[in-house]
Amino acid sequence: MLKKKRRCPIYDSKDITARKMMDLAVNDIKSNNKNKINLIWLEATGCSGNLISMLNAENPSADFLLKEMTNLKYNNSLMFAEGDAAYEQFLDTLETEFILVVEGAVSTRDNGQYNIIARYQGKAITAMEAIRIAGEKAKYVLAVGTCASFGGISAAAPNPSQSVSVPQFLNRQVIRVPGCPSHPDWVTGTIANLVAFGIPELDELGRPIMFYGITIHDRCTRRSYFDNGIFASRLGELGCMFKLGCRGPVTRTDCPVRQWNGYVNWPVEDNSPCIGCAGERFPDGMEPFVRF
Ligand code: SF4
Repeated sequence: MLKKKRRCPIYDSKDITARKMMDLAVNDIKSNNKNKINLIWLEATGCSGNLISMLNAENPSADFLLKEMTNLKYNNSLMFAEGDAAYEQFLDTLETEFILVVEGAVSTRDNGQYNIIARYQGKAITAMEAIRIAGEKAKYVLAVGTCASFGGISAAAPNPSQSVSVPQFLNRQVIRVPGCPSHPDWVTGTIANLVAFGIPELDELGRPIMFYGITIHDRCTRRSYFDNGIFASRLGELGCMFKLGCRGPVTRTDCPVRQWNGYVNWPVEDNSPCIGCAGERFPDGMEPFVRF
């Protein structure tokens, strides 16, 4: 008989916090209902800003994610091992059950040689090669950040490195967790959902609906200005920033309610129009970021 898929109960709550999701996952691990899964986090063609954003996580901390819910096996910036020993950890993890997180796009020009992530037995290992071999074996693949999800800044015209997104590169399902950078809650919450419940509900672009289901515009604190036709004519003025180029109407994230940097603020609240950094057309299709 087919086992009914367990659905995360907090989908039905308006308060989807990464903390709640991770507590469910960690409780499952502690009561031996689930295994702590291995994690490979590759930094490909990008700025590593998603990892930095992740280290800024507060509720829960990145430490909690990496120790309590997953076993971080490989990451260029955070692991102790180096050289051949580091890459051997990567190879060993391929023989286990693991989640692959990729941040940054995949540079494909000249067989990927413009993004070397390791050297092993004297050979340069490209990000392209590492993503391909890990992508074939991973239980789940997450494209974290807009470069990994859609190409982003790394693939912006004229794209000299011939970068492509992870879903374009890998012939398999990839969960997109975009943002420039991605919010730490979007990453930890998605991984927690994978551990406790499997793949979350996704939209047509493969983004978890719990974080990317509603436009910024729909929950913006300046929405009443828009509805009443009150528009700011310059930065710093009260009013809707639509005429200054705000991309909130075409960008789906929960920034207005989740907020950033320890849940204290977000761009529109700080008088800056949304630049659509989590959107599939960022940055080329979102320019100019501010219209004067
Ligand atoms: S500031 Fe932007 S997101 Fe907010 S109401 Fe205006 S257009 Fe929509």
